[in-house]
Amino acid sequence: MNEIAVVGGGLAGSLLACFLAQRGEKVVLYERRSDPRAGTPERGRSINLALSERGLNALRRVQLDKEVLADALPMRGRMIHPVAGELDFQPYSADGERAINSISRGALNNVLLDAAESVVDIRFAHRLSELDPETGTMVFQTPDGEVRTGAAVIFGADGAGSAVRGQLVRHGVTEETLDFLDYGYKELTIPPRDGEFALDPGALHIWPRGASMMIALPNPDRSFTCTLFWPNSGTGAFASLSSPSAIERFFAARYPDVPPLVPGLVADYQQNPVGLLGTVRCAPWRAGRVCLIGDAAHAIVPFYGQGANCAFEDVVVLDDCFERTDGNWAETPALFEASRREDTEAIAQMALANFTEMRDKVSSPVYRLGKRIEHT
Ligand code: FAD
Repeated sequence: MNEIAVVGGGLAGSLLACFLAQRGEKVVLYERRSDPRAGTPERGRSINLALSERGLNALRRVQLDKEVLADALPMRGRMIHPVAGELDFQPYSADGERAINSISRGALNNVLLDAAESVVDIRFAHRLSELDPETGTMVFQTPDGEVRTGAAVIFGADGAGSAVRGQLVRHGVTEETLDFLDYGYKELTIPPRDGEFALDPGALHIWPRGASMMIALPNPDRSFTCTLFWPNSGTGAFASLSSPSAIERFFAARYPDVPPLVPGLVADYQQNPVGLLGTVRCAPWRAGRVCLIGDAAHAIVPFYGQGANCAFEDVVVLDDCFERTDGNWAETPALFEASRREDTEAIAQMALANFTEMRDKVSSPVYRLGKRIEHT
């Protein structure tokens, strides 16, 4: 048995902890935040995800798929909202049965943390600040001061802004590039109307507007979380709408069905933060005792709805690599990176390409003639 540290108790880290425990490994999971199950989510950062078969396959292997799906809403196609004219439903599969599942990232994380907590040791409010990849020495900042500890194997599952990756770069073993889009995202909320969904909950709603767009995914409380993907600068930028009347006029002209659906439009728009969107690439993903996984290794833009699905699939591939090396942790990370890098680069490129598709091409006549879109 190895002493394994997983840094980051988000989606990839908490799922990885469950897989490692299932293999009988002794695991400590370190998370920067205090226990998120005890707190309220940050305003404008609720993020609901489209969970697809790729991610469900990973959850199934630790018997969590049914529990997660109980909190999810199936979306069997996308509903296009033009500036003028009829709504246009485009099914995701020829038989109209295949679906992607809308789920809150927070709720998904909570299910995974519950599962991880029953099998591994979790230390919340531990922010990794230093790491020596050769010795496995780690330093964490905690409310009670600095904690110095170590592990035989360390996984960096600490997301797009990974401190573990930062330490590999600092030690001169990894190189990274961060490509930010000149676009950001902002959330709005469509509350229930008379206790019911205000839009069809069986679809992922898209307002394609050429150079920008809005999407909306349903939530179990019958609200929708909308996300605006708009430029950070130039025409149509978030900052260009600086007064309540400018916000109201712009939505009335460009998203005319939205103001009646979002009674808190001006407050949401003015108070919710603008998030960054970018692609992280780095190489190698591993050095000494350390291996990166999930967004820490390969964060992508969200337009294919595959970041979390891909992070979950990483865990499955890593587990298969462990099997193929007969449980040898010294060999597993290299095999993992060799098996996985090409696929993650491909999804990074597809995710960028899908932004053009969603904000522009979905409203073209070819889709109205019945082209089907497959999501896996
Ligand atoms: P994270 O979920 O970011 O988890 C990292 C964890 O590490 C966090 O808990 C963090 O607190 C912790 N941490 C950070 N630093 C430290 C530190 N120094 N020490 C200890 N802990 C630390 N994906 C999809 O599959 N489908 C979608 O539809 C989708 N939509 C998205 C929409 C938006 C607007 C965005 C922004 C993302 C979307 N994604 C989607 C992507 C998805 O959210 C990420 O790919 C996924 O969360 C990655 O999981 P992760 O565990 O690698 O990283």
